[in-house]
Amino acid sequence: MIWPPEIGPPTGCGFRTEKGVRSPQTKTLDDSDFAFQRSIEPEVLAHLAQFDFLAEHKNVIFLGPPGTGKTHLSIALGVAAARKGHRVAFASASERVTRLAEAKRFGRLTDELSRLSRIPLLIVDKVGYIPFDPEAASLIFSLVSSRYERSSLIVNSNQTFSAWIEIFGDAVAVAALVDRLVHHAEIITLKGDSYRLKGKKNAGIISMPAD
Ligand code: ADP
Ligand code: MG
Repeated sequence: MIWPPEIGPPTGCGFRTEKGVRSPQTKTLDDSDFAFQRSIEPEVLAHLAQFDFLAEHKNVIFLGPPGTGKTHLSIALGVAAARKGHRVAFASASERVTRLAEAKRFGRLTDELSRLSRIPLLIVDKVGYIPFDPEAASLIFSLVSSRYERSSLIVNSNQTFSAWIEIFGDAVAVAALVDRLVHHAEIITLKGDSYRLKGKKNAGIISMPAD
């Protein structure tokens, strides 16, 4: 991969990561197999990759079962955004919560949120894998409301919004969170089998429903 100078030194992921936040693997839109993932039109991704949504401070939400390409597509969009010179940060929800909790412990939560608000695209992966305790839920809420109509989020979840009530443990807070998150958002629901299991069903390792 050729690194445009404006992106800065290669980090292994095509966009700037912060200290302590693991670089995701590089995935690009060109690597994406649209014959596999038919629940998203290539045109929709191509349109997202023009990044009007960043200028408009809108969000993108990828929902769908494991292996359907949420992380892949969000990284591919992040790489494309970075190549266009936008700053991008990627972290799983739990990594992000850990960093916010640390900032809060040192009385720096507002500073950390304003630092993040200067990054136009923040990717939050894996919402819903682990339930949040009340402090984590409140930190995610602070993050989403601090970015509302100011800067963009890509949020990936393997759970539907209604299941978020259990993850966040508070129906009222989830309603307020989802309200802000989806008010200006493209919600992309991915369907189908896991890409990770592709080829394995023929090998008889796993039984899957017929296509
Ligand atoms: P999820 O985050 O939804 O659980 P991933 O994005 O991690 O799924 O995808 C699982 C694996 O399948 C990854 O190695 C990813 O690169 C690959 N993959 C998923 N979707 C596609 C796709 N449309 N084209 C090519 N590879 C894909
Ligand atoms: Mg994933």
